[in-house]
This record gives sequence, structure tokens and C-alpha cells, in this order.
Amino acid sequence: MAYVISDECVSCGACEAECPVSAISEGDGKYQIDADACVECGACAGVCPVGAPSAE
Ligand code: SF4
Ligand code: SF4
Repeated sequence: MAYVISDECVSCGACEAECPVSAISEGDGKYQIDADACVECGACAGVCPVGAPSAE
């Protein structure tokens, strides 16, 4: 399953630069992950200051 970003996201943008497949983009009120592109590496979860990304 792809990672997903919860409503805890504060739109800092840190995860976007860490994603090796550029699956993360700024969405409406929070960042979002393209589930079809995500390779479940966990880099976004590792860099997020509020723990918003998680594997569903
Ligand atoms: Fe990108 Fe990895 Fe996060 Fe998936 S788990 S969105 S591939 S950084
Ligand atoms: Fe949102 Fe966390 Fe990504 Fe920052 S690192 S944009 S808080 S998911």
C-alpha cells in the first residue's frame, strides 16, 4: 500500500524534496502522495516533523 499524508500535515514541504520518485505534491491544505507512483520507501515519514505520512 502507498503512503498517505494525514491532516496533521502543516505543508512545510520537507517531504517533497526527499521523495525519490517525485510522488509528493502540494495539495489543498496539505501535501499529497500519488499512490500509483509511491514505492513505499518511507523517506517522507522519516523527514516529516509532525509524523503525517504513514503506510495505510
Ligand atoms: Fe515518496 Fe517514499 Fe514517501 Fe512514497 S514513501 S511518497 S516513494 S518518499
Ligand atoms: Fe506535510 Fe510532513 Fe510533508 Fe511537511 S514533511 S509537507 S508536514 S507531510
